[in-house]
Amino acid sequence: MNFKVNEQGFYGDFGGAFIPEMLYHNVNELKENYLQIIESDDFQTEFKDLLKEYVGRPTPLYFAKRLSEKYNTNIFLKREDLNHTGAHKINNTIGQILLAKRMNKKRIIAETGAGQHGVATATVCALMNLECIIYMGEVDIKRQAPNVARMKMLGAEVRAATSGSKTLKDATNEAIRDWIANPVDTYYLIGSVVGPHPYPDMVARFQSIISEEMKSQLIEKTGRNYPDKVIACVGGGSNAAGAFYHYLDNDKVELIAVEADGLGVKTDKTAATTQVGSEGIIHGSKTLLMQNSEGQITEPHSISAGLDYPGVGPLHAHLFKSGRGSFIGATDKEALTAAYQLTKLEGIIPALESSHALAALNKIELKQTENIVINLSGRGDKDMETYIGEMSNL
Ligand SMILES: *Cc1c(COP(=O)(O)O)cnc(C)c1O
Repeated sequence: MNFKVNEQGFYGDFGGAFIPEMLYHNVNELKENYLQIIESDDFQTEFKDLLKEYVGRPTPLYFAKRLSEKYNTNIFLKREDLNHTGAHKINNTIGQILLAKRMNKKRIIAETGAGQHGVATATVCALMNLECIIYMGEVDIKRQAPNVARMKMLGAEVRAATSGSKTLKDATNEAIRDWIANPVDTYYLIGSVVGPHPYPDMVARFQSIISEEMKSQLIEKTGRNYPDKVIACVGGGSNAAGAFYHYLDNDKVELIAVEADGLGVKTDKTAATTQVGSEGIIHGSKTLLMQNSEGQITEPHSISAGLDYPGVGPLHAHLFKSGRGSFIGATDKEALTAAYQLTKLEGIIPALESSHALAALNKIELKQTENIVINLSGRGDKDMETYIGEMSNL
């Protein structure tokens, strides 16, 4: 079984580039150039240098002693929460902005739901002095005011998507429309392992720095470059793809992906795509998505904005269907409980998204001798309002 993308952009049955003809030129230009550019010494030197000096990498692999005692096993936290801007997303936006520069693009567009990818994109555009336009649903603009303010302060223009449900999928449609209208000077910066080929592969490569660092950090701490289990939350799937990447072909490593069950998979308030979704095309890629009987995308729900996405990237659809990955879910409430627990035991306030990965500890079998890595994708500052508001409900 192969878990890397093939020539046609597929992971098993999933992936590809299902795009309107008018996007063919843009996507093809990217496909023809990305590997040669990002594998060049010149690119790698600048990428690694920025990850070190600007993002603050390598992030620690922290042995969580009290959490380990509680579960009677060995738990390491990969501290992506300590990156500049507070999450893993910046690994990808740094990579893509360097690529855009080398392709002589002058104008960067992106869409965002919660605003986190918008902030990570606006950050690197400020750094590189490039024009930045962020599409965001009108409803999301109201819900995510602090992130909108950050993007504006960073110099981005935030454009409201006013059609449909006025959320992420509508913002995506607007961004694609913009790209069709501006095929020469504009670069479309996608925030997860989603979208038409080559985006899923490209984003996974940029995020693979996570498991690349884990290998040497685990050797130092455990004498072996791989853990028994890697656990990560899945929205689109980029932090999980990065944490799994160098272990995809190592059968000794169990890959555990945690989706957001929301209020529960039996309700219609869920974002657990592999549990309630089916095969279809979203964002130019064949994958699993949440849709109604007419093939229209249904609105997901999760307490964490970053997991509130109605699909998963094609790599994850393949990991799920092939059985290579174990997919489980955590509800809003289970994630909250896990967040309070980590905070009390380790003095680390996790992002609500990452709390779903932590909640997996209550749902899987753990052995005393095992080494487990949980990818702590982001920090909880952005979620304080939710944490304080929900505290009395637990
Ligand atoms: C955006 C986000 C996620 C979900 O995105 P993936 O592409 O699935 O990683 C998870 N955690 C945090 C902190 C995020 O900001």
